[in-house]
Amino acid sequence: MNIEFNLLDRQFHKYKDEYEEAALRVLRSGWYILGKEVESFEDEFAKWNKSKYCVGLNSGLDALVLAIKALEIGVGDEVIVPANTYIASIMGVTLNGATPIFVEPNEYYNLDFNKIEDCITPRTKAILAVHLYGQAAEMQRIKEIAKRFNLYLIEDCAQAHGAKLEGRNVGSFGDIGCFSFFPTKNMGAFGDAGAIVTDNESLADCIRTMRNYGSKSKYVNEIKGVNSRLDEIQAALLRVKLRHVLELTKERQKIATAYLNGIKSTRIIVPKIQYDIDAHTFHLFVIRTEKRQIFQEYLSAKGIKSQIHYPIPPHLANCYRELGHKIGDYPITENYSKTVLSLPLYNGMEEAEMDYIINAVNSFNF
Ligand SMILES: *Cc1c(COP(=O)(O)O)cnc(C)c1O
Repeated sequence: MNIEFNLLDRQFHKYKDEYEEAALRVLRSGWYILGKEVESFEDEFAKWNKSKYCVGLNSGLDALVLAIKALEIGVGDEVIVPANTYIASIMGVTLNGATPIFVEPNEYYNLDFNKIEDCITPRTKAILAVHLYGQAAEMQRIKEIAKRFNLYLIEDCAQAHGAKLEGRNVGSFGDIGCFSFFPTKNMGAFGDAGAIVTDNESLADCIRTMRNYGSKSKYVNEIKGVNSRLDEIQAALLRVKLRHVLELTKERQKIATAYLNGIKSTRIIVPKIQYDIDAHTFHLFVIRTEKRQIFQEYLSAKGIKSQIHYPIPPHLANCYRELGHKIGDYPITENYSKTVLSLPLYNGMEEAEMDYIINAVNSFNF
């Protein structure tokens, strides 16, 4: 059997008529940028996330960049970030000229709140929490630290749309939540797209102004802005996706549960659920093994594609040489980067495919 890592057409076909209707509606409307679809999506997404405001943007990276800019964090400031994350989280900080201060992860791959306080200095302005692989970080505890030290709290929710802690969605704990709708994300668009959510009106207003060249009304530019607009077609398609995202998340959780129940090998470390399944939306199903390379080759020989998220930790990336980090600085993160492997998990995956993967994993001779 051949199993791809992801097949986006399956989730398209499931709601094909609704997507096609939405796209055609925009094409025929004659209005393509900042119109009714974006406004409606922003309303609907804010409500869905139980946040007061949403601003649609061009990407998840732009959401991070503009969130940090709107909080006036820049050169000379420090932001506490997880060492174990996708590099875009870090770029949101460094594109503003601020310095990322890396903190090692816990066994759930998220920021270890026990290690945050030691990293706080007079220059620290914010904590950036990432809900990695779809699992909510320890927001109550991280929020408590942010409050105590008077720091902003920013959430990178790019992998965790709808993950819930004590009934609250991620993105609603901190000052601002940043989302990506890149096609492979749990709530993916059909091109690049992103958004921020916040309860802070002036923050929302600032980002809404910045995304459109810093202008509130045409040709009157208040601040030096950027072009980071969510377009009408993506907004219309995302409105469809939003109607189904709960069902899509449940399907991911079901596949993950099948893996967790089915994988028997004691030599594989399977993902741990920290709270309950509602707090983990399983953007990725990440296992760990010391024998990653031969295991990945073995899976590949059986027709199963797997991926590594992520092979090079941000502190060791070439682009961050200037930060002066070296191998051994963040040993837990570095060990994860050498041992993690993501198994295929996507909407529309068939039972026979899951069973085939589980059998293959269990038959590997560790
Ligand atoms: C995908 C992702 C981003 C960036 O989103 P884009 O829409 O690709 O710019 C940021 N942070 C995390 C954790 C991500 O997974």
